[in-house]
Amino acid sequence: DNGHGPARRVLLKLSGEVFGGGSIGLDADVVAAVAREIADAVREGVQVAIVVGGGNFFRGAELSQRGLDRARADYMGMLGTVMNCLALQDFLEQAGTSTRVQSAITMGQVAEPYIPLRAIRHLEKGRVVIFGAGAGMPYFSTDTVAAQRALETHCDEVLMGKNGVDGVYTADPRTDPTARRLDHLTYADALRDGLRVVDASAFSLCMDNGLSMRVFGMTEPGNVTRALKGEKIGTLVTV
Ligand code: UDP
Repeated sequence: DNGHGPARRVLLKLSGEVFGGGSIGLDADVVAAVAREIADAVREGVQVAIVVGGGNFFRGAELSQRGLDRARADYMGMLGTVMNCLALQDFLEQAGTSTRVQSAITMGQVAEPYIPLRAIRHLEKGRVVIFGAGAGMPYFSTDTVAAQRALETHCDEVLMGKNGVDGVYTADPRTDPTARRLDHLTYADALRDGLRVVDASAFSLCMDNGLSMRVFGMTEPGNVTRALKGEKIGTLVTV
């Protein structure tokens, strides 16, 4: 029981790759298209929380290989996610959706602080809540934060929107021609096989708390709306 009645409530994770359209910075057309798809689902009554990544700006692990202190580089990575939040917020508002950004790092001019009960209230009112700055802690990834925020705001499911892959495969489909897409697998399978499509810590947090996850491809137009509404696209991962 999700404890919030019949409305479907989901957490959508959008990686930085989505925002950059495959390169560094922001691809406004892509973000606008994703925002319109989210707005369509919200109009049909789906409650949508979103965690955004920041790999289109900075990844802490990569910067630290070039000599930056890892924790400071991770903070830069987190700040990048907030820029993505603001872009998504703007396009969601243009698409007629009411939104709030909540940041794990306090920056009152651009975002509310992360307050879980307030986030839940926004969702109940039909507002899209966009979570920025990850967990506010270095050495974490936004995948793991997606699982954590989904749990804390009582989401029914966490949806991992991917660029380049449309689900979980038996091997990396870009390098292994024998790779097959799976309709379903368990967290134990994913962890045992070392599947990297989602962080291991995100898989294990979902596994330990019985939260199901759907990994789907965002390239096909309409897929974001489909996933938000609960259509069985991509790969379902369960306990
Ligand atoms: N990050 C962090 N703590 C968090 C979330 C993110 O330190 O809780 C930093 C980390 O450096 C990461 C960067 O922010 O590389 C961008 O996030 P992520 O790599 O998860 O984004 P994505 O791969 O989804 O684009």
